[in-house]
Amino acid sequence: MAVGVLALQGSFNEHIAVLRRLGVKGVEIRKPEQLQSVTSLIIPGGESTTMAKLAEYHNLFPSLREFVKMGKPVWGTCAGLIFLANKASGQKTGGQELVGGLDCTVHRNFFGSQIQSFEAELLVPSIAAKEGGPPTFRGVFIRAPAILEVGPDVEVLADILVPSNKTVDPNSTLDSQEESTGTADKVIVAVKQGNLLGTAFHPELTADTRWHSYFLKMVGEVVEGASSSSIVAVGE
Ligand code: GLN
Repeated sequence: MAVGVLALQGSFNEHIAVLRRLGVKGVEIRKPEQLQSVTSLIIPGGESTTMAKLAEYHNLFPSLREFVKMGKPVWGTCAGLIFLANKASGQKTGGQELVGGLDCTVHRNFFGSQIQSFEAELLVPSIAAKEGGPPTFRGVFIRAPAILEVGPDVEVLADILVPSNKTVDPNSTLDSQEESTGTADKVIVAVKQGNLLGTAFHPELTADTRWHSYFLKMVGEVVEGASSSSIVAVGE
């Protein structure tokens, strides 16, 4: 039992390291045929335009879409969340190819530019209920997207008050968000829809492994005959 990690660009090594800590092998995926060797996939954070160009170059989009459609568990973090969204808005999004499947609209770079990256304590009741530990999780937001709209089948796992000390890019303003959603004070940053998990932040950059364990449980539920205990027993 192994978890694929899209390894075109971004923080794939960090995801693989957390999986290793949990006793699960992370397999680097760069080519369409490699997807056949795994039953689940993590799409890491990075830079979604660059990642999309590389995915296009390697002709990965059709296989990634097929993978999602087949109901295999896929988790997108940050740029990976943008990949999974049905729709992306915000600066420089025009024409960017998406895998889609997650019924939501994400806004790229919602919180501003790189220097406006931040950490915040998130309330994560669903994660704490399943994984134990504190009711909060320290989210690392690096030029992060936010989820502005979700469809009826999407479960919201975490949201965040828009930090009042954050200024945002002119093309990515809270004003335009206010107009489009009417809720400028809170935005969604983690969702689940069936086999798909999306987080706007980077759990692989913290010591708290509960999001990875949560995803592995999703994998265990899907992979026939697998139980969470057998998943954690695999590997080093
Ligand atoms: N801002 C990046 C993008 O739009 C995502 C940042 C990240 O993955 N940390 O692709």
